[in-house]
Amino acid sequence: MLRALADAGAPVSVEEVHRALAGAADLVTVYRGMEDFARVGVVRRHPLESGKNLWALEAAGGAHHHHVICRECGHADELDGCEAAKFESAARRLGYRDVSHVFEIYGVCPSCASKEHDRR
Ligand SMILES: [Zn+2]
Ligand SMILES: [Zn+2]
Repeated sequence: MLRALADAGAPVSVEEVHRALAGAADLVTVYRGMEDFARVGVVRRHPLESGKNLWALEAAGGAHHHHVICRECGHADELDGCEAAKFESAARRLGYRDVSHVFEIYGVCPSCASKEHDRR
């Protein structure tokens, strides 16, 4: 399962992981696996505006970063750095423990934007 995520190199849906596993696990198992991995911090959940989730490996030791995700095709690009640390420390100052955050940017990627342009 984690291999499938590593091979994808970008956030993918449970369906895509399921397809990559070629029947090695059913969809429910993959979904539960992603939730479990997310809980222990191995995998990061990328909620889409649609309410669906994409999943990606948490950068192992690398710099924490976020993604800009195309709402047309789901393509994701990495954004360097993170501005959320100050919100997390503010939350800790309020006495919250195990603080984490989810932060994604959505847009229409250049390739989808040019497709839309062609249609007109
Ligand atoms: Zn796109
Ligand atoms: Zn962050």
